[in-house]
Amino acid sequence: MLQADQIQLDRIRHYVRALPKAELHVHLEGTVQPATLLDLAAQHGVELPVSTIEEVTDWYTFRDFNHFIAIFRAISQCLRTPADFTRITYEYGRSMAKNNIRYAEVTWTPYSHVGDPTKNLTFADLLNAINAGRDQAKQEWGVDMRWIPDIMRGQPETAPTLVKWLTSSAAQAGGVVALGLGGPEIGFPPELFAEAFSVAKAKGLPGNPHAGETVGPASVWGSLRALNAVRIGHGVRAVEDPALVDYLVEHQIPLEVNPTSNLCLNVYSSYAEHSLRQLIEAGAMVTINSDDPALFNTTLNDEYIHAVLDCGLTLDQLEQTGLNAVRASYLPPDDKATLLASFEANYARLRAKFEL
Ligand SMILES: [Zn+2]
Repeated sequence: MLQADQIQLDRIRHYVRALPKAELHVHLEGTVQPATLLDLAAQHGVELPVSTIEEVTDWYTFRDFNHFIAIFRAISQCLRTPADFTRITYEYGRSMAKNNIRYAEVTWTPYSHVGDPTKNLTFADLLNAINAGRDQAKQEWGVDMRWIPDIMRGQPETAPTLVKWLTSSAAQAGGVVALGLGGPEIGFPPELFAEAFSVAKAKGLPGNPHAGETVGPASVWGSLRALNAVRIGHGVRAVEDPALVDYLVEHQIPLEVNPTSNLCLNVYSSYAEHSLRQLIEAGAMVTINSDDPALFNTTLNDEYIHAVLDCGLTLDQLEQTGLNAVRASYLPPDDKATLLASFEANYARLRAKFEL
């Protein structure tokens, strides 16, 4: 590589790291770093198949969807007390600060914890614990978070109780901003959850399901029609249906795209083949996110860098996705305006600073 190219690449990397960011798609359980997992397992006497940081890192490496679910379950097994949830939220706050993420809407799966009779945790215990971690992180680094608890697709029977709690005044005052839907798309189509999302919507809680990741356009259409989704987790496979892309563009339905996650789960075989750029060029409202950063060995900084260097986005397109994340968030209008103004000022300053 020519020296001039190398200098240009270094500038882009420094600029991306310095960009202020917002993250809309990240799972709290997927942010647990190897050292923390080992620590929690030892504390609670949970047997893991691995015992060193190197082994956990290797074990975390994606093999197939079943292995991924097994890891997610093992992490959930190690999260047993309110203090554990406070800790991992605080630690995600630290990683937000490192990635210059000013604001995040974080998903967590209440029924991985509340439904477990060995843990003795209530919804309120969980929310209070997570908010304690959020408050510590905010105090220390100025980062802020809101919550998108999700229904586990494999457990449709838990949906009514979960929605009842999520629409309570305590949950809404505690920072719950939307209803998520996660887990295996195959075999659990959106239509199964129509009633739950309709109850949530009637009580003012917007629908924010995962769709169009392991299942194609039908899952996205189903989420829009049966769940009144106002934002879609992933949605990348919408490109397989031009009429769906037209709809998403016309209605500016935000998509939470997670490039590395999609490569790890074999939705795409390379960054170059990923639909990120195609969606942006069609005019869709795209945001870039990390999904499960610890499990996919990524960070939001890395995702932004891949978007430019490997998916071929221009810096203007990248900045547009950053502003989209603020616009597509559930923040009140005044907070959005403040954040947008700050992002835009910083983008201009950083482009000048790094001569890009
Ligand atoms: Zn996800």
